[in-house]
Amino acid sequence: MATASPPLLAVEDLQIRFHTLRGVVHALDGVSFEIARGESIGLVGETGCGKSITARAILRLVDPPGRITAGSIRFEGTELLTLDRRAMRTIRGQKISMIMQEPKVSLNPVMRIGRQVAETLLIHDRSLSHRQAEAKARDMLGSVSIPDPARMAQRYPHELSGGMAQRVMIAMMLVTRPRLLIADEPTSALDVTIQAQILDLMTDLIAEIGSSVLMISHDLAVVAETCDRVIVMYAGTVVESGTVDAVLDEPSHPYTRGLLNTLPDQVDPDRPLQSIPGNVPSLLAPPVGCRFAPRCPEAGPRCRRETPAAYDVGAGHVAACFLHADGGVA
Ligand code: SF4
Repeated sequence: MATASPPLLAVEDLQIRFHTLRGVVHALDGVSFEIARGESIGLVGETGCGKSITARAILRLVDPPGRITAGSIRFEGTELLTLDRRAMRTIRGQKISMIMQEPKVSLNPVMRIGRQVAETLLIHDRSLSHRQAEAKARDMLGSVSIPDPARMAQRYPHELSGGMAQRVMIAMMLVTRPRLLIADEPTSALDVTIQAQILDLMTDLIAEIGSSVLMISHDLAVVAETCDRVIVMYAGTVVESGTVDAVLDEPSHPYTRGLLNTLPDQVDPDRPLQSIPGNVPSLLAPPVGCRFAPRCPEAGPRCRRETPAAYDVGAGHVAACFLHADGGVA
């Protein structure tokens, strides 16, 4: 009997706490998801919902006072949370790369860009000579459509536009052909006219390399364009997940519906934009039961008593909401 191949990444029941002077911030609670080989997943939600800290946890880059307090993160079957630092450094960059929102902050300001791309290669492949690494770096700069790569390789980051700097970051993060690429709002700092170019370039290169992708974005349109599946987060929890088509066409969690209502209607552009009433709860003292209950138009007594599990609402489509449970919200 054929067995399904194990996922590339499996995050299970992840919990993160920040111990601050004001109290304990419950940043993530019970976050679980999987990424298959070659799959692109979008992680969406408002600022502060836990998207970026989830990504940092995968790379074991949660800085104090943050701490992973429970859960498991397995990559190619290896538990990352108990891996020693050296083994983790090898995985970071070589097998899992991350593209950040602000390329100029991530690039070394005093090193020429060709050298930076070459250094990334040399760290992870000791068999390469400097000359070979620099030649590969120039090829990679060409692959991200940087004109005249040999000349541009001599430039420093401050001599590049935002779009060019993000192309260099993409070159640096993909030059090692990682199995998983984490892209944290990769285009949100860029001019709207070049966002689409950069996304197209990234998706083409990723398809060529065959990497899986975790795309973090507050922009559902970006996720719809680039991902196979989407995970919606709210206040440190996963509230809905499924294929992009299922979640965006038939959202099953009231928060996802609210989020979609905040977007302009493609069919009826005159429809007034709606906002979700109320505010995101403080994670210093998250609400008991469903964290969305204080803002949910469909909340019932059960929602303020119990935490909803993830209920199946379709093939591979789940929603953490009592509307889909036996007995409903009463
Ligand atoms: S569980 Fe209740 S409060 Fe939470 S989203 Fe569903 S209906 Fe709303």
